[in-house]
Amino acid sequence: MKDDFATSSDGLFSAIVPCKNEAETVGLFYGEFARVMRELGRENFEIIFVEDGSTDATLDAVKKLSAQDPRVKYISFSRNFGKEAAMLAGFEAARGEFAAVMDADLQDPPELLKEMFALIADCDCVAARRITRDGEPPVRSLFSRLFYGLMNAFSRLKFRQGARDFRLMRRRVVAQILRLGEYNRFTKGIYEWVGFKTRWIEFENVERKYGETKWSFWKLFVYAMDGIVAYSTVPLAA
Ligand code: UDP
Ligand code: MG
Repeated sequence: MKDDFATSSDGLFSAIVPCKNEAETVGLFYGEFARVMRELGRENFEIIFVEDGSTDATLDAVKKLSAQDPRVKYISFSRNFGKEAAMLAGFEAARGEFAAVMDADLQDPPELLKEMFALIADCDCVAARRITRDGEPPVRSLFSRLFYGLMNAFSRLKFRQGARDFRLMRRRVVAQILRLGEYNRFTKGIYEWVGFKTRWIEFENVERKYGETKWSFWKLFVYAMDGIVAYSTVPLAA
């Protein structure tokens, strides 16, 4: 398939960063991300902060960064739509030859981009998987295992324990993700659905740099249900 997008062929990298109430972390993210990009010799990047209906000063913080560095762009939602909607808006805005979704709290360590950029030379997508969940409440880890067990039993796609939304991908992958106009999106499923040659890297959990998780247990549970309903065929066939 041809990549029929207004793309740059100059190696531009788009980092898509959903943020809800991250006034304290966006600056930390910017600093760490920019440091890694400098070390990689990859100064040609754009950071797209997608401010998702924050009730704190996230938007101000993002605007300030954008005024200091024109490579920082932002989208601001009129209310909280959730991380899925934020990722979609980010993919739509991204102009890079490469793109990645990254959490503002540095739980998707920018440092990993070094290995990811090395690996993407001979594939379309490099995905990151957490192999520990230290610092998380045990009930979360338990439900996470249960969720992946169910997903893999019910779906023809493979879902990896600890997989993140954090993937480095080529423009052609983004183009296919954008073709899926689902409303109740489940990006980890969409990544598997679109396919492409993918390599996996593993990393140890890093705790959020500041503040608290924006996901309540209930929100995560409903999200998991969206994933199961959207990506399972077995119950329908039974
Ligand atoms: N986030 C968002 N909208 C939401 C909830 C979360 O944009 O409604 C962002 C959040 O600011 C962070 C990322 O999604 O950058 C992951 O959220 P969080 O760290 O709270 O989730 P956890 O790491 O605990 O799963
Ligand atoms: Mg987090």
